[in-house]
Amino acid sequence: MFKQMESNGTQRLHFCHDPETGLKAIIAIHSTLRGPAIGGCRFIHYNNDDAAITDALRLARGMSYKAALAGLPHGGAKAVIIKPESDFNRAGLMQRFGQFVDGLGGEYITAMDSGTQISDMDQIQKSTSFVTCTQNTGDPSPHTALGVFEGIKASVRFKLNRSSLKGVHVSIQGLGHVGYEVARLLHQAGAKLTVTDIDQARVTQCEKNFNAASVSPDQIYAVDADVFCPCGLGAIINDTTLPQLRVSIIAGSANNQLAEEKHGDLLTTQDILYAPDYLINAGGLIFVALQYSKQNSREIRQKVIQIGDSLTQLYQNAAQTKQGVHRLANHQAEQIISASNDFNSAA
Ligand code: NAD
Repeated sequence: MFKQMESNGTQRLHFCHDPETGLKAIIAIHSTLRGPAIGGCRFIHYNNDDAAITDALRLARGMSYKAALAGLPHGGAKAVIIKPESDFNRAGLMQRFGQFVDGLGGEYITAMDSGTQISDMDQIQKSTSFVTCTQNTGDPSPHTALGVFEGIKASVRFKLNRSSLKGVHVSIQGLGHVGYEVARLLHQAGAKLTVTDIDQARVTQCEKNFNAASVSPDQIYAVDADVFCPCGLGAIINDTTLPQLRVSIIAGSANNQLAEEKHGDLLTTQDILYAPDYLINAGGLIFVALQYSKQNSREIRQKVIQIGDSLTQLYQNAAQTKQGVHRLANHQAEQIISASNDFNSAA
């Protein structure tokens, strides 16, 4: 575990086990150098405890990079609640988790993630104020979707030299909170859509509302399109899917899209432009962080829209310095975080 923390650069790992509610939770604090660490709370099944720890560590680092590149005064963290196999009282479990968060004294601010919903955040709020995405704050997904949409526009402009999305063909994997809204925005902008989801009802809705074509989930990688927009699962750029890809751009919301760093290098070799996931999907984090610091909705929207400009700048730098976009993004995020380190020690 310590080896994993060291190679990942994680500052702290907190555990909580409460037999009364069945809570088994892990909070990975990747960094607080830029400010309180912020990041979502997952509530899903894990095969074993190690898998849960690995997930928390991996995702916490992504949150640090995301916050740093978005210029937010926060470090990154992630919480994982292991979903109990037997019956449990959801409200009680979430309230107990709130106590766990509260005990960290503001070092960590929690938020919604896979498997948690606004009502869970409301329960957590009964035990701590270090929580966002409550009923008063709202769902971050539309902001994530807006950032992805702006990111797709910037990527199409850079790679295909097209200033409009009219007629641009986008394949979308996953039509949940983010993917469906991205589909709506793209359709509105005149893009042509091919979609997939394991939930047929969502596919049918997109066919009906956005004139989308559809394929089965395993066919999405081979769709001959301009842009592939992954909005479902992580690790979908891997040894199996890479040879199937027939797109010029990958730009979507899913976290941890590259199964390994080498898959980013292979995308560069295959001349496929990759929008680093933690940069293009930062809209939700920007929303929750700025809401938390009481900024108004116009300022928040403006900052989310800037994701397009940040991506353009990154693409230009990567082209000039002949580096892979994903490697340059990692490097820039690490530089920003370590500069905060210098600032802290000087202070
Ligand atoms: P969601 O759970 O609402 O939607 C995911 C969708 O993917 C669902 O419709 C699900 O049926 C579908 N799906 C699952 N497995 C699939 C498969 N094998 N093939 C095709 N579709 C499949 O999640 P979301 O909130 O829309 O988030 C989507 C992704 O974006 C996740 O990876 C999430 O971590 C990431 N993300 C979300 C936000 C946010 O604000 N919601 C922010 C940053 C990153």
